[in-house]
Amino acid sequence: MVYKSLTYTLIGIDAYLVEVESDISVGLPAFNIVGLPESTVKESKERIRSAIKNSRLPFPEHRITINLAPADLRKEGTSFDLPIAISIISSALNISKERLNKFLIAGELSLNGEIRRAKGALSSAFLTKKLNLDGIILPEENVFEVSYFTDIPIYPVKHLLEVAQFLKGEIEINRVEKRDIPVKDFSSLDFSEVVGQTYAKRALEISAAGKHNVLMVGPPGSGKTMLAMRIPTILPPMTIEESLETTMIYSSAGLLEDDKPILIRPFRTPHHTASEVAIVGGGTNPKPGEISLAHNGVLFLDEFPEFKRPVIEALRQPLEEGKITVSRATLSVQFPADFLLVSAMNPCPCGHYGDESKPCNCSYSQILKYRKKLSGPILDRIDIHIEVPRIPVSDFRKVSQEESSEKIKERVMKARDMQRIRFGKDNFFNSRMSNSQVKKYCQLDQLSIDLLEKAVEKYKYSARTYNKILKLSRTIADLDCSEKIESRHVAEAIHLRGMDREFI
Ligand SMILES: [Zn+2]
Repeated sequence: MVYKSLTYTLIGIDAYLVEVESDISVGLPAFNIVGLPESTVKESKERIRSAIKNSRLPFPEHRITINLAPADLRKEGTSFDLPIAISIISSALNISKERLNKFLIAGELSLNGEIRRAKGALSSAFLTKKLNLDGIILPEENVFEVSYFTDIPIYPVKHLLEVAQFLKGEIEINRVEKRDIPVKDFSSLDFSEVVGQTYAKRALEISAAGKHNVLMVGPPGSGKTMLAMRIPTILPPMTIEESLETTMIYSSAGLLEDDKPILIRPFRTPHHTASEVAIVGGGTNPKPGEISLAHNGVLFLDEFPEFKRPVIEALRQPLEEGKITVSRATLSVQFPADFLLVSAMNPCPCGHYGDESKPCNCSYSQILKYRKKLSGPILDRIDIHIEVPRIPVSDFRKVSQEESSEKIKERVMKARDMQRIRFGKDNFFNSRMSNSQVKKYCQLDQLSIDLLEKAVEKYKYSARTYNKILKLSRTIADLDCSEKIESRHVAEAIHLRGMDREFI
């Protein structure tokens, strides 16, 4: 008789239904799994056999065939262990087929039948809801991540025996109720810890307000990393939807710490030597890369020109569309990747060009070559270019009252409110305005037009740069709670385009 249990496989971050059919027929003992299982699934046979026997459940000494349907979906991971085991023992235990097919089941088995965490449990909960099933049987370790975001019944389990008894109707398992999102942990970082750098801090405030990508240029030790790390502290708190999206990515990658949902905007800082797959995502069974782990947060790329060329070029799609498509021979997977790009670089190969404390020993052509590593299309997607000079040691001794992140965040949130009212959507920013929106929302008075035209003449701005300055002026006016863009807003925006004036 053929029994069937229900589980899922992950493609990208989405869960797809997989039916685990078991056929036990007379013949020499054998155990085969068919239906496009990857090596991790094929290897599960020994774990499943031991887990069933060690739980004192009947393992049929016959010919066992497991079919994972649909056959054209690739199945990877260890969470198939539990549904396969259940499908095998159902016949001998007389489990009702009807009851069995009311639940989605997932979990890895240990040799003695204990159940371990599954990847992508959060996505599987949404699948369960979509299929209108009675609930989901999940490893206890996964329960936290799921219970914050969905009200479907979750049955947490620790051991194979417990699942068998529950499906036979011999025991009850207490359902987990939906939990309230906990009070957010606040970051221990704060902008008030950064001495000086008033100009850079202001530029980052503008970046946070209008979601403008940033490039910081400065010598080593000037505090670029210190500044970047504090950007999440001035961004608005995550909404439930954002938190859910980002948690799903971490859940599918098996990277949730202590099963807590992601409540604080991520700050990812991959090293420039990291592989393209690690940063962009991909692999044989495509996994999210750093750019997706930074979804709804900040991606900080230090020493930006040192990143591999294909990595830099691959950032174009996510910067434009907020997602990345990873294509493999048989499938193409999309991952969300909507982040604020904060990049940093030295001013020259030795790092000391323009640094008063140390001489630069690079030639003009070396500096030019170094800066040209960043291609035009990428620089085009970065609105703000600022210089971050080294702070003189004497400044550290100054006792100054630096503004707190909370205070800056208040202004950022007001500016975001103005954008929300203007564009009528939750997730829309000045930096994303189309040309026609720029025309509509960035009208200038004569004084501002004169100022901008003078700058265009002097610095030879392209049409694109001209548009960027208008968008930045819009954000600066929003931070000022002003519907009208004034000449001082335009003047400040021109200052945020340092790279256009030098070398490039
Ligand atoms: Zn140099």
